[in-house]
Amino acid sequence: MRVFVALGSNLNSPITQLNSACQALQNHSALYKFACSPYYRSIAVGPPQADYINAVACFETNLGAHKLLEVLQSMENAQGRVRTQHWGPRTLDLDLLLYGDKTLATPDLIVPHPRLTERNFVLQPLLDLSPELVLPDGSLAATHLHRIGLAGLEKINEHPRRISL
Ligand code: ATP
Ligand code: CA
Ligand code: CA
Repeated sequence: MRVFVALGSNLNSPITQLNSACQALQNHSALYKFACSPYYRSIAVGPPQADYINAVACFETNLGAHKLLEVLQSMENAQGRVRTQHWGPRTLDLDLLLYGDKTLATPDLIVPHPRLTERNFVLQPLLDLSPELVLPDGSLAATHLHRIGLAGLEKINEHPRRISL
């Protein structure tokens, strides 16, 4: 199953947080063919807080979607995620965007991620990895990005590992 996951951080050296998350995903024994998009800086949604660093990772796995969500949440916890305010600052957020072309709506897991098509900081890195990507509803990811535009989004051009925030 080909999977896309959104990565986000705005606390405790966000670029380092994303680098560590990429390492953790790449090292996981049940995830294969890992790739990560360039990193972007975005203005936070939700309460006023620091800018985010965002990226999207792609890999293959035989793990079920719920098991994968557990793996992602344990990686968030391992990197010091503390859940306080809704949409508040966090060291690491890993959202399951797409799980093959499956559609799921359970109390703790909705796929595709329900806000995927409204977020340029998700769609742009997703398109970097897969420019022709078609969503499970048959729409093109590129069409959604064209509709919402690129406001508040800035690509980080330098090699991510050489920058510290
Ligand atoms: P948003 O979902 O708007 O990006 P958030 O990432 O800040 O907000 P969290 O507090 O990280 O939200 O997650 C809240 C809950 O969302 C999680 O406990 C999880 O059960 C649920 N959830 C539902 N669908 C997904 C998904 N596709 N990926 C990750 N979590 C999901
Ligand atoms: Ca999120
Ligand atoms: Ca989340």
